[in-house]
Amino acid sequence: MGNNFSIQKKLIAEALQRLDHPTAAEIHQEVAKTYAGISLGTVYRNINHMLEAGTAGRLVLPGEPDRFESHNQPHAHILCSGCDRLRDFEPLPDETLRAISQRLTEQIEFYVNTYSLVFFGMCTECRKKTNP
Ligand SMILES: [Zn+2]
Ligand SMILES: [Zn+2]
Repeated sequence: MGNNFSIQKKLIAEALQRLDHPTAAEIHQEVAKTYAGISLGTVYRNINHMLEAGTAGRLVLPGEPDRFESHNQPHAHILCSGCDRLRDFEPLPDETLRAISQRLTEQIEFYVNTYSLVFFGMCTECRKKTNP
């Protein structure tokens, strides 16, 4: 069943679901476990198709490789500087976002249609290691 393209596509989509905000290299590594010959270029091509189709989301972090996830609903993230783990944070309350968007529109006539938000800090486990 399926040609090589659709098998690769399926494996990439599955890896994206399984891994927690992976980079393209991490997806490549994961898929290569079951599909040894896959190239990093193929992974990038498929991710780009998913981004265009809206079935994947990209998170751009300054000075770090982009990370991906299997949906493109706007939501906030938290990134730990100790273990480098990136996690979802429950969406901010609607009123907060509405207030920020409204303010941008009122003050500088900027119209928000989506957002990307990352809180940088340290998780409990890493804090314990630094300040026991
Ligand atoms: Zn941590
Ligand atoms: Zn996320």
